Amino acid sequence: MTPFTYGRAQNVDDALELGARPGAKYLGGGTNLVDLMRETIERPVALVDVTQLDHEIEERADGSLLIGAATRNTALASHPAVRARYPVLARAITAGASAQIRNMATVGGNMLQRTRCAYFYDDDGGSRCNKRHPGQGCDAAEGINRYHAILGASPSCVATHPSDMCVALAALGAVVHLRNAEGERALPFTDLHRLPGDQPELETQLWPGELITAVELPALAFGARSTYRKVRDRASYAFALVSVAAALELDGDTVKDVRIALGGVAHKPWRAWKAEDALRGQPATAEAFRAAAQAELAQAQPLRHNGFKVELARRTIAAVLAELKEMKA
Ligand SMILES: Cc1cc2nc3c(=O)[nH]c(=O)nc-3n(C[C@H](O)[C@H](O)[C@H](O)COP(=O)(O)OP(=O)(O)OC[C@H]3O[C@@H](n4cnc5c(N)ncnc54)[C@H](O)[C@@H]3O)c2cc1C
Ligand code: SF4
Repeated sequence: MTPFTYGRAQNVDDALELGARPGAKYLGGGTNLVDLMRETIERPVALVDVTQLDHEIEERADGSLLIGAATRNTALASHPAVRARYPVLARAITAGASAQIRNMATVGGNMLQRTRCAYFYDDDGGSRCNKRHPGQGCDAAEGINRYHAILGASPSCVATHPSDMCVALAALGAVVHLRNAEGERALPFTDLHRLPGDQPELETQLWPGELITAVELPALAFGARSTYRKVRDRASYAFALVSVAAALELDGDTVKDVRIALGGVAHKPWRAWKAEDALRGQPATAEAFRAAAQAELAQAQPLRHNGFKVELARRTIAAVLAELKEMKA
């Protein structure tokens, strides 16, 4: 491991001052960053512990929730308002990692966890990776790419975003609150992560030294009729092959409104805008659910080993919508 200093921020100003040092990184639960430091893929010169910052979940008068970035994943998933009004988020979080990791992991750190592409981790094995070494090439493109992207990828990088929580946040239209040296700003969650293009090393829209302070869940009248389904190789402790977060509002037998996001298929949590557009105003039938899934996956570009994900994603979207239709909200 490369030598580094450690400092614990007591407040946001403190964090920004310590985080402004070139080569500094914020430290949440450390469950991803410290692993990457051990592998010498991340080499921060300073760690700024932000776990003492805001870890409250505020229920606001307009029905929204404001969640401090230092909130632990377990605390968020078990919060009564989340379980009752946004079950998709509680289910997504508990589908990820293990109880021990969820007890350590923070909301801010979960959003910025890095891809699980095996070639990205294989620095000392000599794998080429544009994300680790820009311009080097991508061994996953022609390699074992079963876990890789079918949507939004580029020749430079075909990695997927690994987070379950983030898929639910994308479906729920969350907003990320940020602080930087200039002040505050807010980003729609769906804009936080970037597609790889020809710069896969740039993974988010964050500025250098910028701090995630909170994430906001807007009020969603039909949020209670929502769920998360994760398809993976074994029942626990595995990243998603495909996952679906969805919420459904019905007017009789007609789809009034719907939110769908996919995990395991793209470089970012993938909001399924095309499927949503195809469904609004349509009868809530198996045929309409399947057609909406088809509309979204029409743009898929599978790789040599992951063609199965296209049909898997279609079926999972249709199955989740059928489940939501029957759910008592
Ligand atoms: C064995 C194992 C299995 C796993 N399985 C899953 C799974 O199935 N599904 C899943 O979703 N995840 C899984 N994970 C990943 C886990 O969810 C992440 O490691 C965790 O969410 C990261 O949170 P953290 O607080 O520990 O982040 P850290 O490791 O502390 O930080 C991650 C990144 O976020 C940055 N950061 C942290 N806080 C802030 C902030 N407030 N502002 C700006 N930057 C910040 C750090 O600088 C770093 O770059 C698994 C992890 C392990 C080790
Ligand atoms: S897919 Fe992306 S992360 Fe994986 S080897 Fe290629 S460039 Fe690296």
